[in-house]
Parts: sequence; C-alpha cells; structure tokens
Amino acid sequence: MASIEFNNVIKRYGIGPKANQVIHGVNAGVQDGEFVVIVGPSGCGKSTLLRMVAGLEEISDGTISIGNRVVNNLEPAERDIAMVFQNYALYPHMTVFDNMAYGLKIKKVPVDEIKARVDKAAGILELGALLQRKPRELSGGQRQRVAMGRAIVRQPQVFLFDEPLSNLDAKLRAHTRLEIEKLHRELGITSLFVTHDQVEAMTLAQRMMVMNAGRMEQFGTPEEVYHRP
Ligand code: ADP
Ligand code: ADP
Repeated sequence: MASIEFNNVIKRYGIGPKANQVIHGVNAGVQDGEFVVIVGPSGCGKSTLLRMVAGLEEISDGTISIGNRVVNNLEPAERDIAMVFQNYALYPHMTVFDNMAYGLKIKKVPVDEIKARVDKAAGILELGALLQRKPRELSGGQRQRVAMGRAIVRQPQVFLFDEPLSNLDAKLRAHTRLEIEKLHRELGITSLFVTHDQVEAMTLAQRMMVMNAGRMEQFGTPEEVYHRP
C-alpha cells in the first residue's frame, strides 16, 4: 500500500504556442489504502490524470509521488502500480491462467509462486473453474475479472481503474462493482478509479475527486461532496 500525492500537477498536450493545457494545477493527497474515485464529465481530464500516475503520459509540471517517492521520471514498470482498463486488453490466444501469469513469467517469478498468486486471485474473483479457457469463451464480466486478476497478481502498491465498468451491461456492472468493493475490502490496496458516472462514483468512493475542465473542484467523501451548502 502507498499514499499518492499530487503536487500542482499540470498537463499540456503539444508544445509551444499550440500547446493545449488540459490539467491546471491539481493538488491532492490520497491516503494509504484509500479508495478514491475521480469523477467528472467527458473530456475533463480524468483519464489524463490517471495515465500520469501510471506513467503512460508525461507530467508537464508539478510532481506525483507514490509512497513518498516522486515518480515523474520513473518508467511504468518501476511505479508499483497495476491498471485495469475498460477494454480488458487480454491476450486472445492465451488461457485465463496464462493471461494472469504472463507478466510474472516475464519477471521470472518462480513457477510455484506464480501458481500460488494466480490461484489466490482466481479464488477472490471466482475464476477457479475458468483457468483453462480462452478469452473468447468468456462473458464480458468474466473477462473483466480476468483483467482484474492480472492486476492483482502483480501485488502492486496501487490499483488504477480506467472506467472498468463502462463496457458492461447494467446487471454485470452492478455485480462487478461488488467484486471491486470486495477486492478492496480484502486487499486494502490504495485505488484510483476513474468514471464519468456519478452514481458509480458515489457508491464506490471513500472520497471523490470531482474534476471539471481540468481542475479539481472538490475532494471529499460523497456526503461532503453532495451535501455542501
Ligand atoms: P476524460 O478522461 O475526463 O474524458 P481526458 O483526460 O481523456 O478526459 O482528456 C482531457 C482533455 O485532453 C480533452 O480535451 C482531450 O481532448 C485532451 N486529450 C486527451 N488525450 C490527448 C492527446 N493524446 N493529445 C491531445 N489532447 C488530448
Ligand atoms: P515488468 O512490470 O516487470 O516490466 P510485465 O511483463 O509485468 O513486466 O509488464 C510489462 C509491461 O507492461 C510493463 O511496462 C508493465 O508495467 C506493463 N503492465 C503489465 N500489466 C500491467 C497492468 N495490469 N497494469 C499496468 N501495467 C502493466
């Protein structure tokens, strides 16, 4: 687990006079083990903010720290994060087990350890009976669980969720939301979760960062955000 600090974070796309500033100085501190939802309308900068934490987008100005370590100049693989994407991004030719194990194999984690980690993740996500299937033999919800399993086995300090529920139908969305809540209860890993859906945000968040046009307008518990005078 780790805290995350945003210190006057600025993002510009492009350079020189044509540069477009899309994040205008975000300051916020996420506590160890906290589940924070970044919410706001399409185009307000949620995904950009998350991708800067992940190292998938350069930070134009200011700093982001994970566990008291400034990560601005660290590669994604050095940041101790795992990301769950909207479109799952599973390898179609690999089994569920191999999809979850792949990153660990590359890192040369011992085979026994890989098996133990995959089995544990499969237990939490109820994927035990599906480990030998290929992604095409899974439902959308099952695929999303495999994507989460792949993040869990990395044993990261931080989970980053980029609209992971938005491709699911209403019933599955509710179910998967419960899975994510359970995951956070059991593992207690610091999490940033991006969504444009206010109900989803309110349901999942311990605290929510409300973004609008590249600025963080509010940062508080759902009660604080919705009952503000
Ligand atoms: P959100 O996730 O809230 O929908 P984004 O972070 O995707 O918002 O986008 C914020 C702003 O940055 C938008 O105006 C978008 O058009 C712009 N933007 C996002 N990605 C790029 C990019 N790669 N190049 C230029 N502009 C971008
Ligand atoms: P390593 O992380 O040790 O470089 P991996 O094979 O696990 O090796 O990852 C390869 C690349 O893909 C790295 O940049 C890693 O950060 C990234 N990656 C793999 N899975 C995820 C994930 N779930 N979330 C974020 N990044 C990931």
